[in-house]
Amino acid sequence: MKIKTKQNHFFGALKARTEAKGGITLEDDFTGETKFHYKDFGSIDWYRELAVDQRKRAREKEKAENSPNIVNYVRSLADAASGWIIVTVIGLLAGFAAGVIDIATKWLSDLKSGYCRGHLYLNQEQCCWSDNLHGIDEDNCTAWRDYGNPNSYGGHVLLFIMYCLMGTLFATIAVILVKMIAPYACGSGIPEVKTILSGFIMKGYLGFGTLLVKTLTMPLAVSAGLMLGKEGPLVHVACCCGHAVSQFFPKYRNNQAKLREMLSASAAAGVSVAFGAPIGGVLFSLEEVSYYFPLKTLWRSFFCALIAAFSLRAMNPFGNQHLVLFYVEYDKPYHLFELFPFIILGILGGLYGILFIHMNLSWCRFRKRSLLGQHPLLEVVILALGTSILAYPNPYTRIQSGHLIRLLFKECKRYDDNPLCDYDYSKNATTVFSDGITQASWQLILALIVKSALTVITFGIKVPAGLFIPSMVTGAITGRLIGIMTQKIIEAFPSSPIWEGVCADPTSCIEPGLYSMVGAAAALGGVTRMTVSLVVIMFEVTGGLQYIVPFMVATMASKWIGDAFGKDGIYDGHITLNEYPYLDVKIDMQQQKVRSIANNWTLTSIPFQGSTTEKLCTMLADHPYSGFPIVTTQGRLVAFITREDLHEGIAAGRMLISDDPNDEFIDQTVLFTMSTPLVSAGRVPIRLNNVIDYSPVTISEQTPIALVLEMFRKLGCRQVFVIRQGELVGLITKKDLLQFIYETRNNDQTSYSQFK
Ligand code: ADP
Repeated sequence: MKIKTKQNHFFGALKARTEAKGGITLEDDFTGETKFHYKDFGSIDWYRELAVDQRKRAREKEKAENSPNIVNYVRSLADAASGWIIVTVIGLLAGFAAGVIDIATKWLSDLKSGYCRGHLYLNQEQCCWSDNLHGIDEDNCTAWRDYGNPNSYGGHVLLFIMYCLMGTLFATIAVILVKMIAPYACGSGIPEVKTILSGFIMKGYLGFGTLLVKTLTMPLAVSAGLMLGKEGPLVHVACCCGHAVSQFFPKYRNNQAKLREMLSASAAAGVSVAFGAPIGGVLFSLEEVSYYFPLKTLWRSFFCALIAAFSLRAMNPFGNQHLVLFYVEYDKPYHLFELFPFIILGILGGLYGILFIHMNLSWCRFRKRSLLGQHPLLEVVILALGTSILAYPNPYTRIQSGHLIRLLFKECKRYDDNPLCDYDYSKNATTVFSDGITQASWQLILALIVKSALTVITFGIKVPAGLFIPSMVTGAITGRLIGIMTQKIIEAFPSSPIWEGVCADPTSCIEPGLYSMVGAAAALGGVTRMTVSLVVIMFEVTGGLQYIVPFMVATMASKWIGDAFGKDGIYDGHITLNEYPYLDVKIDMQQQKVRSIANNWTLTSIPFQGSTTEKLCTMLADHPYSGFPIVTTQGRLVAFITREDLHEGIAAGRMLISDDPNDEFIDQTVLFTMSTPLVSAGRVPIRLNNVIDYSPVTISEQTPIALVLEMFRKLGCRQVFVIRQGELVGLITKKDLLQFIYETRNNDQTSYSQFK
């Protein structure tokens, strides 16, 4: 038998040394060089992944210290800088993707009403710009051709038909692309990103195909007029960029825990470009989607969000100076008595959240059970056509949701053409009593009903669809209406002691636009249950720094009301609905003990002594488990070995002895310790003591499940071992725990089966 000590071509990265008597021992860095392999929907082992990374870093540091040459210095510098390089590239890509999406959305939306003669690729603004040269005057723009003359009956009908047809066509193209090329590109993606960041594998979810299709279909879906937004999906797109960039760096490609640090930063970049809210993005990543968020990730997210915001700014897709979406110019201070309507808005937002979550989840369940689920194309076509028909007659549903929000947030100014304000020139004041405003109010109420009803049935269709903007629209309309009502009340009772002292002019005492902003925050808070990040996003989005307190009041009220009826926000609701294996931090498991999960496990374990390659290979072939405990004859747990380490360890050991395929199969002894005496002379045992984990996490049968939950969450372990009087009796994986929680909650035996 020949002993090979050189590196093998197949296990290029593996190193081994032979010891005169000790047999084949795999080097200490065996696991550091290899990559953990996980099956689809498997859970990652944070604890081991991070340990492997730390070991690798320590080794490299030692190497650099022992031989301080320029190569080692550059290598360690490159290693340290790689994280920052990745976040820089992610930021640039996310900004670029958002810019492209914004430009395409604007172009496609304009294409629904007309086209630019001779320059089909230009949107209305660019077309008129190039036509007028001195400025944008869309009324006197001859280059832009509407499909029909809005002043004539026939032209109006033509415009309506084109609006419906184009909208349906865009939606159809989007759903076909999603269905045929990248099914994972549908939806907002936030529930899935949340699940992935919590440590689960969803192969292809952040793949290049998904990135491409989602970027292409998002403008189509938004400009189709469907009640959805592109802000949530941008988080998914940014995470796809993060995943793609990380693939070029082995440190992140081969380590799932490190990869997730980059994905957290990407999520921050996504919100940064979606709303132009970099700090809000960092907080969103921390509060809403991330699971493991060390300080270093916070700084990287901050930097990534910053680069993304810069990159979008450089593209300047809105063609104006403001990077913020809904910039408000007013800075009128709010009065103390207004906190009351703000609280009411918060309560309404919370109630809307409860209602929306309940109805949307019920609709999604119905969709899954019914024919709708089997015919996503038909569903999208019907919905797009229906939405266009319902939306066209009302100006507030016809315009894009983003424009509507901008309009609702706007203040009432003299010489302003805001249809929501009616300026009384004789009194030099804004009035809310005239016929015009009453009609606008009715149209707003109708828009509120239509938009909220359509959002319920739209979220969950098979095209990219976000919830931020539709929820904000609902809240903003409600806010504006409450604002108008408050204004009316003040005008009706101008001498009320509540506002008499503070309102110099009762006709312009309050700013209905502010109510709109507060309402938007409240509704979004009710639906998503975000708090800190939401307030920051809101003031970054509007530039209304002095309105932080109203935002905080409304968001808190909305969260309290929402949480009183169930702690799950819409994303958690969809995680549960889709049975994603997500270990929620909010789960309350005070009573049960580990014993209640199971008490008669049948474990497949490896004997500490007497294992041979043949026995272990048979065991690997017979059992699909991701790892095996190593136990003494008395049943005591000694160590744990992952499936990959065992498989590759045996293969590497065998290869090092002989890589000649014609060599007859030799059944080697496998040892898990250095101290075991040598067996049968002439045979070279394979020692796996360097690749096994001698400190697996153990618990007793009496351990409360709440504690086990914390262990999974805080330590990030993949499995824990159950000990009874010193003897190993069982093992609990993250999914076993999830299954148990699910069964306890729903009394349902079938869930999570798809991930088993
Ligand atoms: P995951 O599904 O998280 O990837 P595993 O593949 O390790 O985890 O485990 C799948 C199921 O098999 C779990 O229910 C777990 O309790 C059980 N299991 C895991 N390892 C063993 C083992 N060595 N012996 C018996 N059952 C096991």
